[in-house]
Amino acid sequence: MIKTDILIIGAGPTGLFTVFEAGLLKLKCHLIDALPQPGGQCSEIYPKKPIYDIPAYPEILAGDLTEKLLEQGKQFKPGFTLGERAETIEKLEDGSFIVTTDKGTEHHAPVVAIAGGLGSFEPRKPPIHNISAFEDKGVNYIIKDPEVYRNKRVVIAGGGDSALDWTIYLADLAKEVTLIHRRNEFRGALDSVEKVQELKNQGRVKLITPAEVTSLVGDHKLEAVVVTQAQHIQKEFEIETDFFIPLFGLSPKLGPIANWGLEIEKNAIKVNNALDYQTNIPGIFAIGDVNTYPGKLKLILCGFHEATLMCQAAYQIINPGKKYVLKYTTVSGIDGFDGTRKEAPKAVIKSIN
Ligand SMILES: Cc1cc2nc3c(=O)[nH]c(=O)nc-3n(C[C@H](O)[C@H](O)[C@H](O)COP(=O)(O)OP(=O)(O)OC[C@H]3O[C@@H](n4cnc5c(N)ncnc54)[C@H](O)[C@@H]3O)c2cc1C
Repeated sequence: MIKTDILIIGAGPTGLFTVFEAGLLKLKCHLIDALPQPGGQCSEIYPKKPIYDIPAYPEILAGDLTEKLLEQGKQFKPGFTLGERAETIEKLEDGSFIVTTDKGTEHHAPVVAIAGGLGSFEPRKPPIHNISAFEDKGVNYIIKDPEVYRNKRVVIAGGGDSALDWTIYLADLAKEVTLIHRRNEFRGALDSVEKVQELKNQGRVKLITPAEVTSLVGDHKLEAVVVTQAQHIQKEFEIETDFFIPLFGLSPKLGPIANWGLEIEKNAIKVNNALDYQTNIPGIFAIGDVNTYPGKLKLILCGFHEATLMCQAAYQIINPGKKYVLKYTTVSGIDGFDGTRKEAPKAVIKSIN
């Protein structure tokens, strides 16, 4: 059981900034995210796009913003459960919560902050009739740890950037890489398409187009994929493999959170914005893109503001009756949970005769 002060569901910009604001109040955070990496929409959808409305950054790439937020919160040693979706929540008699993921990891905290954005990004699954029987038994929709594929045979399906990028990456690691796409044309960056073509010419990856994986074969675990190739006449054949990785993109869904008894309006969680972004269940807050209230704007800077106010309320729940006096970081400095201390240099005191 993972224990923390504030359990944050969603490691997008809002969740990551919460770590920093909570740390100033000496509260520890743990984050759960369905994606294998932090950053939410910024790292999953548009890491290379410049954002122009982050205060004090006239321009910053979304991927770089994620890096900066991770760096800012690092001293408060956040914990991460990545690649797992928060599935169920149970309220205990003392008012605290247990949140369990789809992989069965349990987390215990007095305060839960849902920073789930548009929802958890779910992989788009290809319509292969027996695919669910092989999930985590050779079929993976997201690559969490490339080392899993070292010296293995891998079949990748898809025609976008993810399929191309992982084909290139795994060509150096896996024993055999086959890329299958239903069209001859790819929708990825030109240099990635050219690189895959070069790897094919060198015999380092196999490319099968236009074709689709239509069935999976195996006894308890994946042993082969059945490929249907439609050129002049339909042709069907098997490729022996250890892994099949369909990379057809991700689509966001509010998902299991929608069944937690929270008040939902237009696919977002209703909160009390006048106070602290608490939901209808005391102890559960909703911040960032996932919440709604009159005047709501789905912007990163609004998520930062909401996270800051939410942490003040979380402090009161965790330290009942204790008064918190707001101090500027320029005055109080920052004491990290890793023993580090940052503080502004003391002013030189000079006596005046
Ligand atoms: C193309 C594009 C451009 C944009 N440009 C700008 C801009 O210029 N300026 C600006 O301010 N905003 C911009 N935005 C919006 C901005 O990205 C969002 O406001 C911001 O990402 C919201 O942050 P968040 O942390 O609240 O949610 P998200 O970034 O959506 O992160 C939520 C995270 O929660 C996870 N999650 C959800 N449910 C679960 C669950 N049950 N279990 C585990 N994990 C879960 C998701 O996997 C996700 O990683 C842009 C958005 C897009 C798509």
